[in-house]
Amino acid sequence: MKLQSYAEGEWYQSSESGQVLRHAITGADIAEISSDGLDFQAMADYARRTGGPALRRYTFHQRALMLKYLAKYLMERKELFYECSKATGATRTDSWIDIEGGITTLFIYSGKGRREMPNSHVMPDGEQEQISRTGAFTAQHIYTPLQGVAVQINAFNFPCWGMLEKLAPTVLAGMPTIVKPASQTAFLTELMIRHIIESNILPEGSLQLICGSTGDLLDHMDYQDTVSFTGSAQTGLKLKQHPAIVQNNTRFFMEADSLNCSILGSDVQPGSAEFELYIKEVTREMTVKAGQKCTAIRRAIVPKDRIHAVAEALSARLAKTTVGDPDQEGVRMGALAGLGQRTDVLAQVQKLAAENEIIFGSMSEVDVLGASAESGAFMSPVLLYCNNPQHTAAVHNVEAFGPVSTLIPYEDDEEAIALAAMGKGSLAGSVITADPQVARTLVLGAAPHHGRILVLNETCAKESTGHGSPLPHLIHGGPGRAGGGEELGGIRGVKHYMQRTALQGSPDMLSAITDTWLQGATRNTDGIHPFRKTFSQLEIGDALITDKRTITLEDIEAFAELSGDKFYAHMDKAAAQRNPFFEDRVAHGYFLVSLAAGLFVDPEEGPVLANYGLDHLRFAAPVYAGDELQVQFTCKQKVNRETEDYGEVRWDTTIVNQEGNVVANYDVLTLVAK
Ligand code: NAP
Repeated sequence: MKLQSYAEGEWYQSSESGQVLRHAITGADIAEISSDGLDFQAMADYARRTGGPALRRYTFHQRALMLKYLAKYLMERKELFYECSKATGATRTDSWIDIEGGITTLFIYSGKGRREMPNSHVMPDGEQEQISRTGAFTAQHIYTPLQGVAVQINAFNFPCWGMLEKLAPTVLAGMPTIVKPASQTAFLTELMIRHIIESNILPEGSLQLICGSTGDLLDHMDYQDTVSFTGSAQTGLKLKQHPAIVQNNTRFFMEADSLNCSILGSDVQPGSAEFELYIKEVTREMTVKAGQKCTAIRRAIVPKDRIHAVAEALSARLAKTTVGDPDQEGVRMGALAGLGQRTDVLAQVQKLAAENEIIFGSMSEVDVLGASAESGAFMSPVLLYCNNPQHTAAVHNVEAFGPVSTLIPYEDDEEAIALAAMGKGSLAGSVITADPQVARTLVLGAAPHHGRILVLNETCAKESTGHGSPLPHLIHGGPGRAGGGEELGGIRGVKHYMQRTALQGSPDMLSAITDTWLQGATRNTDGIHPFRKTFSQLEIGDALITDKRTITLEDIEAFAELSGDKFYAHMDKAAAQRNPFFEDRVAHGYFLVSLAAGLFVDPEEGPVLANYGLDHLRFAAPVYAGDELQVQFTCKQKVNRETEDYGEVRWDTTIVNQEGNVVANYDVLTLVAK
């Protein structure tokens, strides 16, 4: 089989013979890969001219729905991907992380996009900034999608997840993508992209695929383009310095290798629940995906006097890891992705073994179940011991991208932190302890060197997602050697593909641009109560200025009686006056919120279906008996729910007193029928 690229809306097969790809388990030839003959500049232009505009015609929510439909479509076909994934050497569990983990990332981004982004073409960033005396001149930051192409260059170990975790934020942002999978496992990425294209869910031009070299693609990168690279630090550094990327300030995101550590807290003794957790976690990280995970634990940092116990327990557990063809019953660890990878890993183990002692496993021997140890890319898990970690370089510098980890002793917390930092920047770290103070010391010391840290104890172990699993909600990336990148992290990950712009101008102008009513903008009080308008009839700025209501002491007492809130400042004049903030018995803040509803609600049945909460509630000034209050109630933002017959309406609610001073301000959140 010759792998094909998907360029300018068509499948393309190079006429040249290319690199031969082999089955990780059997060693049989399975595919050839070459991108010779592709016009890379034309691909980039096609993405920018066709894919970008087509995607950006949709709103954030409409694109989020595409992700959901795509996820469903792929999930229905997942067995095809599992079958193909066997050739990468993966067990069913390994493939699950790659295939269903990747598809789930689409689902999660779809949900987050619809919950946390507006259903619009522009996304406000943060709150309005008050920058003038009267408010006639104001400011608001916004995000808009970049207009170039998002190129993703991926590592071989996650052919599906690696592609989908980058596709989700780019689609949501509104940028077209060119995917370049690592050659070794590109057959699985190609299969999945074939199904994505067949689904017709993404608009034309929004997704292209290069199977093989990227040719001169990077020469054509511009400042509206992005390149997100996952792979070794060496390749990443080379690409980051590409002249076009440097000259044009192309956004370059790098997720590189890292020598992640897991620290066993000084409080944890053999026999405790946390000790068992540590042994499980390190073993799992060494053997899942045959250790081919950028987040895997490469350095197990353990109190010096417990090294022996940990070494023994780990060795016993690793001895139970059956290696072989994942189709065979009882096999726990499959093969590396290819013989080339095995050669690389063994060469790295050799470097590690020059300074450290191998205490479990072997570089040359492995018992393989159901397959040939010669033809398949199998290797035994290898555990090393580093005797002198402060003065040994390899353990903190050499990444063996396989089932390999090194035990490192430490004397005290300070040394554990120093050793963690010697990895010079990591994607993920973990601290396993039952003591919150130990956790705090280690985490605060190690956090500046990490993108993510798992703090594991017995309480959270059952539901823990583990040291090595990046989650769409959380940042994936890390400083220094890890590449300095930050992908995923929920909507943070989407913002990489958008430009942030500070807007300054009059409130009316900025309201019109941002689809959000801003303080100081015109209120439309046309005499029709806004609760009588349907979602489609409502416009941003539609407002109600309510009747006035004077607060009495009886009101305060009645509210105290009804709610049971008899805090002294509401009930006792002398005590209230001793309080530095009040001059008299003060009205309950929650009473103000309630009476405001009494002023702005239109009681008859109508399009407003429900009030589902408040945001940003602030009590700005005290209210006393005798004060006269009035509410300014303004339609601030509308979020059309694409698949429902209602939308969400956010109302700016400002309560003012007889002097025109704001006493409370918040957003009321309602559901309104279309
Ligand atoms: P790699 O050799 O650096 O390759 C990574 C990607 O770069 C591949 O797609 C490769 O394509 C491509 N590439 C290589 N040279 C290129 C060039 N001159 N121009 C354009 N593209 C080029 O890494 P790998 O062996 O695939 O992956 C293993 C490494 O990735 C490990 O070190 C691991 O720690 C790291 N990794 C990091 C993360 C993370 O999220 N931080 C995740 C997974 C893996 P070809 O395959 O066609 O050469």
